[in-house]
Amino acid sequence: MKNNKHTIATLGSHSSLQILKGAKDEGFKTLIITTKEREEFYKSFPFIDEFITLASFSDFPSIEDKLKEKNVIIIPHGSFVAHLGTEKNKNMKLPYYGNKSVLDWEEDRRQQREWLSKAGINVPKQYDFEHEPVTYPIIVKSYGAAGGKGYFYAKNKTDFEKKIIAFGNKKFIIQEYVIGVPLYIHYFYSPLTDKLEIMSMDRRYETNADGIGRIPLLGQEGLDIEPSYVVVGNSDLVLRESMLPEAYDMGRKTIEASRKLIDKKGIFGPFCLETIITPDAKFYVLEISCRIVAGTNIFTNGSPYSWLYYNEPMSTGRRIAREIKIAIEKNKLPLILG
Ligand code: AMP
Ligand code: AMP
Repeated sequence: MKNNKHTIATLGSHSSLQILKGAKDEGFKTLIITTKEREEFYKSFPFIDEFITLASFSDFPSIEDKLKEKNVIIIPHGSFVAHLGTEKNKNMKLPYYGNKSVLDWEEDRRQQREWLSKAGINVPKQYDFEHEPVTYPIIVKSYGAAGGKGYFYAKNKTDFEKKIIAFGNKKFIIQEYVIGVPLYIHYFYSPLTDKLEIMSMDRRYETNADGIGRIPLLGQEGLDIEPSYVVVGNSDLVLRESMLPEAYDMGRKTIEASRKLIDKKGIFGPFCLETIITPDAKFYVLEISCRIVAGTNIFTNGSPYSWLYYNEPMSTGRRIAREIKIAIEKNKLPLILG
């Protein structure tokens, strides 16, 4: 098989197990870049062929030449931006699955909002708080915060003024706090076939925003509990079927807007819209993740949705490998590499 010539490689964190298992199932050789403390753990899995161990993930650029010789295709996930930063991702010289041009749009909250708004997607109201009155409750997010760290909730002006002191002169944004069900929709778009699929969906478990409800209101009174949005895990969820067409349509609009705003290729492969659904069944999109998200790890063996499309176990990780395999067979690899 032709794809035997390529090795699928990624950093050992986030969704690497799913990605590499999927690559193995599609007939690729697999390689993991890991750290000393994690090596033994990753060696316990049977589908990883090669290991490169670094002192720290940030040393990644030092092994690029070695990886080039091995004919790797890098599959990025959340740890690439978290541990290497946008610049090191953009400067990577290796074949990289995905469109790197979307990274700047994803990183900048204003650009991200412009993208979603131009797509005609409903986003939470954002306040220019020095120039307009704010309706509470709100959520305050520092720039560049990842995974909900550094966010706070404010129920009124006094609450906001007390809590914002800790931010010093850090930049932040203020959004209306949307009360509803958080739902993270995992899409996959193939530019080879122009087909969009909803692969799966998840809801996150966030400490302690999701824990507070376990204490009755009376028990909470007098305790100084602040909700924290740091994610610790994910659980599955399926959406009311009558809401699925709208979820699908949001994915399509996101792709179309990216082609107009970013470049001709736009966003492709896996991406996720992070939504909150309110009691009137309205989606509010908080954020877009432009790659495989960790919530897909629930579905290493496929999801109720991917089963409908594939009739075989199809994780997002495996779907990526399938896409690369098809691109190799059709001689269209450059179309999906950045
Ligand atoms: P890590 O490699 O665990 O440090 O994760 C890299 C990035 O992905 C961080 O910004 C995390 O917040 C995010 N992330 C990791 N695991 C999850 C998860 N299970 N659900 C949502 N986001 C996650
Ligand atoms: P984000 O970094 O935008 O993915 O947000 C992390 C978490 O903060 C989300 O999963 C939500 O639980 C919470 N969150 C963010 N924005 C809002 C909002 N406008 N309303 C309510 N909760 C929010």
